[in-house]
Amino acid sequence: MIVLIAMIDNYNREINYLRISITDRCNLRCVYCMPKEGVSFLGHEDILSYEEMLRIMNAAVKAGIIKVRVTGGEPLVRRGVTDFLASLTKVEGLRDISLTTNGILLEDHAEEIFNAGIGRINVSLDSLSPDKYRDITRGGDINRVLRGIQKAYDTGFSPIKINVVAIKGFNDNEIIDFAKLTIDKPYQIRFIEFMPIGDSALENSLGYLSNDKIIEKINSFSPLEPVIPTRRDRAAGPACLYTMKGAMGEIGFISAMSHEFCSSCNRLRLTADGHLRACLFSDEPTTDLKTPLRDGCTNSELETLIRDLISRKPGGYNINCQQTHRRKCATNMSSIGG
Ligand code: SAM
Ligand code: SF4
Repeated sequence: MIVLIAMIDNYNREINYLRISITDRCNLRCVYCMPKEGVSFLGHEDILSYEEMLRIMNAAVKAGIIKVRVTGGEPLVRRGVTDFLASLTKVEGLRDISLTTNGILLEDHAEEIFNAGIGRINVSLDSLSPDKYRDITRGGDINRVLRGIQKAYDTGFSPIKINVVAIKGFNDNEIIDFAKLTIDKPYQIRFIEFMPIGDSALENSLGYLSNDKIIEKINSFSPLEPVIPTRRDRAAGPACLYTMKGAMGEIGFISAMSHEFCSSCNRLRLTADGHLRACLFSDEPTTDLKTPLRDGCTNSELETLIRDLISRKPGGYNINCQQTHRRKCATNMSSIGG
């Protein structure tokens, strides 16, 4: 039994959640996440090995992390991911392990992931139209994702959360169709506001859509009732949850742009090249963990580095100052992990 000491930062937030991007590579090229061409990927040597990630995870748990999400790039394109997930379940002190995927390879991997001990999954799906899905992902086949979600459901994953980046002029006419998915399946549809991060670019004709507009739209179809968050949900993050009367599932809103939630941010992010980030919206402060790891640092030195970054976690950023913000976060979302 290890003793965990939760770390409260300078803004009275308990930092207990780590997102690990296990690869910067992806089998899609979503327009809001990556540029079309010219992305340079990390070389084999630059990327953390699974063993290195596990060492960081063990130190992070000692620094108060109890929850981890494995993400990417696309995590399912990295060989050995299932064994890595199984190893995470053995890290003493970790209480919640989940995965975010684009779903393209999910049908093939769902059972082995579930058998590895991971029961919680987020799948990204921004359109229910095959053509639009192909356009936004620059080539993706929606049928693979739909089969992956069905397989996850049949396998027993719970909850299954479906991430939708809402974009004006692109999928705003599908909002009700997404909401309807919650009627007879216990899915949680999560509308995420587009965030202008890195050098990805939405097409000029498409743009930001606030979650308030989406709530208005769904309310006019079927009144939304707030879901009283359980303690677990409150710890789970920034989504505000609602349900439509009689629906099995829930609808969540992650409104990073319109309703800043820095004051309740409980997370750190580890990039595939071993940089620990304190804030999604800023490249500073960041701590390089790979170099000390490869130079032979001890576990307790690693823990100290993590605690030190937590103590420097900023109170907040005005993301709406987009020009300033862009300068602060030049890293693409695919490298940070969302
Ligand atoms: N490839 C996996 C996927 O797409 O689910 C995991 C990594 S992806 C970076 C994680 C999440 O970030 C996805 O739900 C994606 O839609 C979201 N995302 C990426 N770029 C975004 C942006 N600019 N604004 C808002 N969400 C974004
Ligand atoms: Fe790949 Fe996910 Fe980014 Fe889309 S959102 S390009 S699937 S990493």
